[in-house]
Amino acid sequence: MADAAVLGEIAAPSAARVSSAAEPAKPKTEVRGYHQARVLHVRHWTDKLFSFRTTRDPSFRFEAGQFVMIGLMVEGKPLVRAYSIVSAPYEEHLEFLSIKVPDGPLTSRLQHIAVGDTVLVGRKPTGTLLIESLEPGKRLYLFATGTGFAPFGSIIRNPDTYERFAQIVLVYGCREAAELAFGTEAVIGLRESEFLGEYADKQLVYYTTVTREAYYHQGRITDLVTSGKLFSDLGVPALDAANDRIMICGNPGMLADLKAMLLAGGFAEGSSGKPGTFVIEKAFAER
Ligand SMILES: Cc1cc2nc3c(=O)[nH]c(=O)nc-3n(C[C@H](O)[C@H](O)[C@H](O)COP(=O)(O)OP(=O)(O)OC[C@H]3O[C@@H](n4cnc5c(N)ncnc54)[C@H](O)[C@@H]3O)c2cc1C
Repeated sequence: MADAAVLGEIAAPSAARVSSAAEPAKPKTEVRGYHQARVLHVRHWTDKLFSFRTTRDPSFRFEAGQFVMIGLMVEGKPLVRAYSIVSAPYEEHLEFLSIKVPDGPLTSRLQHIAVGDTVLVGRKPTGTLLIESLEPGKRLYLFATGTGFAPFGSIIRNPDTYERFAQIVLVYGCREAAELAFGTEAVIGLRESEFLGEYADKQLVYYTTVTREAYYHQGRITDLVTSGKLFSDLGVPALDAANDRIMICGNPGMLADLKAMLLAGGFAEGSSGKPGTFVIEKAFAER
């Protein structure tokens, strides 16, 4: 994914900046534009998916739903890719969910990180999946496939989400049931949390679907929406631009199909300058 690969610069070490005993220790090499985060936890969910937590620089601020460039130093240069932040803006650590692309320049390496390793985290988070980019509404749908769950991990942990919407419906599709585990555990953890558990219990609906093996709900999200099965399963009316607000993150095919469907149904894409009734973010770009 060439456009997301940003090879940054390494700041030249300054002769004047020599650490002395009076100064706190500084990393040997500062990488311009990036914080150096320490890996705190790594978990492999399947042979294609893993997640990890890192320290968070106190100066790093972000909004639920944003992504940031993260990566590793490779041959003396930062090799970075866009990653949605799973953790909530108020949490002390950062969390990410990652694909393992066997020959992927970054993830063929990143999948081997261990506790204590250093990961680069860009200083400027950005993105379009912001609740402020949506007009007020009653029900918020979050449609995700694969690692597209990541930004919604942050959004469902954000108290604002429960203030703005009476109901939040998180629809998560993967090829195989085992790939849903990260998302399912995040939702269970949220329901059990002291902070937001009560709100999540009352307002958050979690609907999972699988495309490549037998499962409780089966089929592509787009098909479940078109056929109306999603809504009859949930016992709610079909999508309606007057009441429903939508965020989509996932594979480019789903994005294109849902976007066309929404535009035909009278929905309007929102942006930070002009709120609308739906917003979209790619979980990855096709080669
Ligand atoms: C806005 C944005 C947010 C992103 N957030 C995440 C995230 O939270 N987690 C994450 O794992 N990736 C995310 N990505 C994708 C990520 O930037 C990299 O593409 C991915 O880490 C693979 O990097 P790579 O160098 O190994 O391979 P790349 O050369 O970047 O990708 C090689 C090919 O692998 C496939 N691929 C890449 N990423 C994925 C993916 N996530 N799911 C399925 N297939 C993929 C595509 O066909 C791609 O062309 C995001 C991308 C964008 C644009």
